[in-house]
Amino acid sequence: MLKKIKKFFYLYILKRKYYRVGQCNACGRCCQKIYVKHKHVIQTEEEFKILQRQHPFYTYLRVIDKDETGLVFECTNLDKETNKCKIHKMRPGICRRYPQEELFLMGGTLAEHCGYRLEPIESFEEVFNKVSKRQKK
Ligand code: SF4
Ligand code: SF4
Repeated sequence: MLKKIKKFFYLYILKRKYYRVGQCNACGRCCQKIYVKHKHVIQTEEEFKILQRQHPFYTYLRVIDKDETGLVFECTNLDKETNKCKIHKMRPGICRRYPQEELFLMGGTLAEHCGYRLEPIESFEEVFNKVSKRQKK
């Protein structure tokens, strides 16, 4: 019963398609080589400066590279010796919620060896049956 309530809540209230399962092994990989997407993947430092004024999280990031996708950032709060977040207890919500399924919508993937994985809430069969029913109406 509890499972059914959880499923309903995630699917229809939160509008999610995936459950986040697993746990963080504190590898620190998601705090390095980050792309920033705000409508589109940020390409220039000028665009990024505007974003920094809108959300404090962006003030933690610094540009380390640029590739065919866009600017590449790393977070200045990552302790490179320990791979731990220096502000762990006060880290922003976006870090607490990582990884979320929006990552996939952005064309991203989970960091290599991330302890989390995203599992579909509905099986292929459930989705298939739903679509078939809709088409019959
Ligand atoms: S604030 Fe901490 S958890 Fe968030 S990206 Fe920076 S180092 Fe990682
Ligand atoms: S990549 Fe995954 S396991 Fe590594 S620090 Fe980030 S959330 Fe944790």
